[in-house]
Amino acid sequence: CLLLTALSLFLGLSLPAQNKPSAAGIAQKVNNLLAKMTLEEKIGQLNQYASYKNATGPISNTGNMVDEIKQGRVGSILKVNGAVDTRIYQQAAMQSRLKIPLLFGEDVIHGYRTTFPIPLAEAASWDMDAIRLSARIAATEAAASGIHWTFAPMVDISRDPRWGRVMEGAGEDPYLGSQIAIARVKGFQGDGLGSLDAVMACAKHFAAYGAAIAGRDYNAVDMSDRMLWEVYLPPFKAALDAGAATFMNSFNELNGIPATGNSYLQRKVLKGKWGFKGFVVSDWGSIAEMVNHGFVKDKNEAARVALNAGSDMDMEGRSYIEYLPQLVRSGKVSITLVDDAVRRVLTKKFELGLFDDPYRFSDEKREKEIVNSPRNHEVAKMMAQKSIVLLKNEGELLPLSRNAKSIAVIGPLAKAKKDMNGFWALPWGIADESEPVSLFEGIQAKVGDKKNVWYAKGCNVNDTSRAGFAEAARVAQNADVVVMAIGEAYNMSGEAKSRANIHLPGVQEELVKAIQATGKPTVVLVMGGRPLIFNWTADHVPAILFTWWLGVEGGNAMADVLFGDYNPSAKLPITFPRSEGQIPVYYASKNTGRPLVDVNDVAYKSAYIDELNTPRFAFGYGLSYTHFKYSDLKLSSKKINNTQTITCSFTITNSGKYTGEEVVQLYLRNRVASVTRPVKELKDFKKIKLMPSESKTVSFVIDKQKLCFYNQSMQWGTEPGMFDVMIGSASNDIRLSDDFELLK
Ligand code: BGC
Repeated sequence: CLLLTALSLFLGLSLPAQNKPSAAGIAQKVNNLLAKMTLEEKIGQLNQYASYKNATGPISNTGNMVDEIKQGRVGSILKVNGAVDTRIYQQAAMQSRLKIPLLFGEDVIHGYRTTFPIPLAEAASWDMDAIRLSARIAATEAAASGIHWTFAPMVDISRDPRWGRVMEGAGEDPYLGSQIAIARVKGFQGDGLGSLDAVMACAKHFAAYGAAIAGRDYNAVDMSDRMLWEVYLPPFKAALDAGAATFMNSFNELNGIPATGNSYLQRKVLKGKWGFKGFVVSDWGSIAEMVNHGFVKDKNEAARVALNAGSDMDMEGRSYIEYLPQLVRSGKVSITLVDDAVRRVLTKKFELGLFDDPYRFSDEKREKEIVNSPRNHEVAKMMAQKSIVLLKNEGELLPLSRNAKSIAVIGPLAKAKKDMNGFWALPWGIADESEPVSLFEGIQAKVGDKKNVWYAKGCNVNDTSRAGFAEAARVAQNADVVVMAIGEAYNMSGEAKSRANIHLPGVQEELVKAIQATGKPTVVLVMGGRPLIFNWTADHVPAILFTWWLGVEGGNAMADVLFGDYNPSAKLPITFPRSEGQIPVYYASKNTGRPLVDVNDVAYKSAYIDELNTPRFAFGYGLSYTHFKYSDLKLSSKKINNTQTITCSFTITNSGKYTGEEVVQLYLRNRVASVTRPVKELKDFKKIKLMPSESKTVSFVIDKQKLCFYNQSMQWGTEPGMFDVMIGSASNDIRLSDDFELLK
């Protein structure tokens, strides 16, 4: 209810798009402008520099950038934000010969000034309205601070929790990932470019960045065409169809060809087959990085290869600005391709309304009103509540009893504040490090006037000292109940934060053992930016919440969940392994010729001799304080042809004592096909709210699109045969099933 009110409020608040000129009108203006531009000015539009806050002070690492802007050598800047600073740079652009406005880009990844949960956490909500609203608010704040363009959403699928950037995406599944890509693009772009509260979205990193070999960031990707098209490309296509204005390419090579120099990806697929009309920005220096890849011999060749392959703008690589003019003059790069890239960039500047008023986004008054407002914090809290996953609740220890007189809050992250902001909030100093509410503060604020709330750190996140254990055990001993906060620090996941070992760092799990030995009822909250391994805790602690990094309101949201003011409703968007050796482990796996077993007799079976096959926590898994019963699955038909649909409906009942929400999941399996199919594929889901004893009928429609796959010749279509229908509360908790036949 709050969500819908907030959403409508925000949609209602959307500032009116200015009288939008037609596409043809813009094309005409772009052509007129292009005709006036020198080659250098054209290439300037394809050049993006980075700066850092405070344009009035010394400009870091960019030398005489303001002079270059005045000469028309810069089309865009990243990492300048705030109405004041963006205005200063824009004023320089207005002193250039043709007065072409600058585009300001920024990594608005999980909130702008009001930090929201990290994207992987938001994905756990499976709540598309909420995710869209989160992006909407981020866009509203950023746009009011002079930003035109966010480098988000990251729509890279990843099935490797060692990869640090898994925190920035939507997890392992192409269907869920596509829905989230759509929600985020629509949230960022609001009513469309030209609105004063819309920023351009950027679907990144094109493509397959999340499949870096061994989970090591920037590493090579080697992948079949089938895997690329079935799993890694769908969220990009979904983002494009939702209107994403821009794409970013990627640092990695794909099957021997760096994404930045990959004309199959950028020209043939993206701009050709998919008809993308926006522009592609390189990743930071990724054009020049092709030298190190061993794909080109120097930056000159890098510029030629990248432009020819369809990379339109050079992010902080200086390859285009330094080498493209000569490459065009010598005929090595055609002016037609340069013009096409420039047209794409200028079109967006016109669509944003920057030629009418280059300062329209740099408005101190609006910035003050909108940024970090109490209402934005309310929504951030709601999003944080929705992101918390209840992994275990033995004996219904949670929600905590209101009768407990004292609570011990223990662990290295119990008072964590800046960690709560998450990886992408911090590096550029937009968000305030001291502002987030810690778990301890959240608990204090909720029950501190009625109960004793004590604290002990116990140990650090990542060192070997156990010196604090005794004190922590003593504090636990004196309390009625213990709440522990352990996990990763914010900077242990994120870009360039790959980990070979994803167990709880340091001696934290030993601390859990020491506290558990006191015999006090204990709840453990695990914080982090990726699936972590905590087997002892999972086996021995009765109640566990996985809380990721929840943003500025994290502590309040956790306290709401602990004391039952919010009933957890999140589900894992990615599989949690038992050990690193299982990676990659994901639910949509294939059968082998051998039975899948998890028994001691594994001889000649597809199994490990020293580990189970099953994950610790499966994709789609997450508990509630209440219980849901599934019954009465009905298929409207048992046989259909390609033009017909099946409605599959069932009843869901809240059989517990709390109002709660359940994410019901539809999985399909194509039993026999000319190309083997996964044992399960998520095809739809709904989030259903029920009061105690309430029942609802839920329906999913199965149409042809849900039955298609790429056949042996990589043609997208169906094949007749039997399909299993599975309705689950998680990918490994199928409650109802049936089958049907697709006829010739
Ligand atoms: C990242 C991008 C990001 C860019 C600008 C790169 O290192 O890979 O995702 O948008 O930096 O900050």
